[in-house]
Amino acid sequence: SQKSESSVSINARGNGASEERVVVLVIGGGGREHALCYALQRSPSCDAVFCAPGNAGISNSGNATCIPDLDISDSSAVIFFCRKWNVGLVVVGPEAPLVAGLANDLGKAGILTFGPSAEASALEGSKNFMKSLCDKYGVPTAKYQTFTDPSAAKQYIQDQGAPIVIKADGLAAGKGVIVAMTLEEACEAVDSMLVRGVFGSAGCRVIVEEYLEGEEASFFALVDGETAIPLESAQDHKRVGDGDTGPNTGGMGAYSPAPVLTKELQSVVMETIILPTVKGMAAEGCKFVGVLYAGLMIEKKSGLPKLIEYNVRFGDPECQVLMVRLESDLAQVLLAACRGELRGVSLNWSPGCAMVVVMASKGYPGSYEKGTVIGNLEEAANVAPTVQIFHAGTALDADGNFIATGGRVLGVTAKGSDLQEARDKAYLAVEEINWPGGFYRRDIGWRALPQKQFATGK
Ligand code: AMP
Repeated sequence: SQKSESSVSINARGNGASEERVVVLVIGGGGREHALCYALQRSPSCDAVFCAPGNAGISNSGNATCIPDLDISDSSAVIFFCRKWNVGLVVVGPEAPLVAGLANDLGKAGILTFGPSAEASALEGSKNFMKSLCDKYGVPTAKYQTFTDPSAAKQYIQDQGAPIVIKADGLAAGKGVIVAMTLEEACEAVDSMLVRGVFGSAGCRVIVEEYLEGEEASFFALVDGETAIPLESAQDHKRVGDGDTGPNTGGMGAYSPAPVLTKELQSVVMETIILPTVKGMAAEGCKFVGVLYAGLMIEKKSGLPKLIEYNVRFGDPECQVLMVRLESDLAQVLLAACRGELRGVSLNWSPGCAMVVVMASKGYPGSYEKGTVIGNLEEAANVAPTVQIFHAGTALDADGNFIATGGRVLGVTAKGSDLQEARDKAYLAVEEINWPGGFYRRDIGWRALPQKQFATGK
C-alpha cells in the first residue's frame, strides 16, 4: 500500500534513541520531494511533514500535508509559514529556489535549511566556477579553457583536435553540453552559443573541454559545510528509449546500489573529489550545506574517477531509490548537516536493492497531452509489500481520479533482496497501472542485470 512500512528507530548516530523532535517543511512538488516526505515521515524524530507546493499524490499518500498555495519564490511567505507552524527544518528539493537564494533568506531568519546558499549553488549554476575551484584545489576533472571570443575558442579547438566537448557556462536546461566528434561540429557549437546566442546569457561564456572516455557514474554525498558523508550509490537512465537511445530526459528510472561504483572507487571519490571540494568551498568563504551530486567519468585508461559536473541537490529519480533504502532517521541526519555535525555520522541502509521505473506522458520529453486519467494505482501499490509509488506530475480531477499533469508523472519503486527481485516487483506494479496516456522504459537496470531478458538492451 502507499502506507509506510514499520518505521525504524535508528537515529543519525545509530544509538537507537531520537534526541529531539522536529517539524519539517519540504520545498518542491516532484517525485524526489515525495520520496523525501516518505523518508521524513518514517523518521522517529519527525513530528510532522509539510510539503510546498507538493502534489496530489503526496497529499493522498499521507506522507505530508501539502501547501499548494505557499509561494516558494517568496522567501518572506515561507518564513512566515515556518514561524506559524513551528517548522524547525526546511529541506529544499529543486535547484531553482536554491539559486534564487531561498537558503540564504531562511538562514538569515534563523531557520535551519538543508540546501546550499545561492553563492554555493554556483557549483551547479556556473561550470566556470566549478572548473576554477577544481583547478585551485586539485580535484581531477577534464582539462579545459574558458572563452568569450569565438575565434579564440576555435583556435583552441584546432590545437586540441576532436573529439572535444563544448559547454555553455550557465544553466541551459540540460542542453548546454555538446560532445563534438568532429572539429566542424565543435566550431558549430561555439558559433551557436557565442555568435547566435541560442542559450542566451547562459551561453555567453563557453568551456572547451577534453573528451573523457569511460563509464559514467553518479555519486551523492551529504555535506555540512566542513565535511561530508557518502550516500549509497545509485544510477539513473537519462535517455527516453530502451537501450539508452533517443533524446535526454530528466531521468526514466534508476537503481541502487550501482555496481560500477565499487567500495574502493567510492573512497577514491570521497578523498579526491568530494572532500577537497567541500574544503575548497569553505576556504573560499562559501560553505556548502546540502547534497553534492557528482557526475563522474570512470576513465577507461586509468580506472580513476574524474568530475564531469556537480549538481547541488538530490537527483530525481535517484532520490526515490535512496530514500526507500535509507533506514536511518533522515530528519536527524539533515539537522546534523545543517548544524555542521556530520563528522562521525554513519548511515544505515537496507541491504538489498531498489529500482524505480518512471512512467511519463506519451510524447515526453517533447510535447504531451495533459489530463489523461490514471487508474488502478491502489491495486498496483498492493502487488508487493515493498512497492512505493511516488507521484511527480499528478492532480485529482472533479471525480476524484488521478490525472497526469506533467511529463514525468509516476516513480514506481520497489525493493528486493537483489536487483532482479526489485526489478520484477517494480515492473509488476507498473503493469498493473492502467494509464493509456503513459509510457515507460522496459529495460531499467540493464547494465547491471543478466542480458537475456532485454529485447533491445545491449
Ligand atoms: P553535463 O551536463 O556536464 O553532465 O554533460 C552531459 C553529458 O555530456 C554527460 O553526462 C556526458 O555524457 C557528456 N560529457 C560531458 N562532459 C564530457 C567530457 N568531458 N567527456 C565526455 N563526455 C562528456
